[in-house]
Amino acid sequence: MSDRTDRAPEAHLILDGVYPARGLVFVRHVETAETYANSPIVIPAQARDKVAKQQFIVTAVGNYEFCDDPEECERPHTKRGEHKHRLEEGDWVLLRNRSWMLTPDPQVFVVRQSDVLGKFIE
Ligand SMILES: [Zn+2]
Repeated sequence: MSDRTDRAPEAHLILDGVYPARGLVFVRHVETAETYANSPIVIPAQARDKVAKQQFIVTAVGNYEFCDDPEECERPHTKRGEHKHRLEEGDWVLLRNRSWMLTPDPQVFVVRQSDVLGKFIE
């Protein structure tokens, strides 16, 4: 929780002290410029904006979400039947299109952990 350099300056003021509920993640948009500066990914210009809109930076992570149906589900679970993940504050992630919702902070969105499609690894 000490590294806040990835956050927009205003991002932690409104939601300061508020943490995501179980199964949820707080994210903020990635600026297009910072998206590609440190990324080996090359994407045609016309696709760039579209992909950038689904890229976010994680600002806070709630507890693991409980699985609705651990018997049928093929994802890895904890002993308590939660969905494991390796999301951390500062991660760059790709979200399912239009899966994110507004929060009281215009810089911050909330998304279900199950709608995080992937995480960019350096
Ligand atoms: Zn499951």
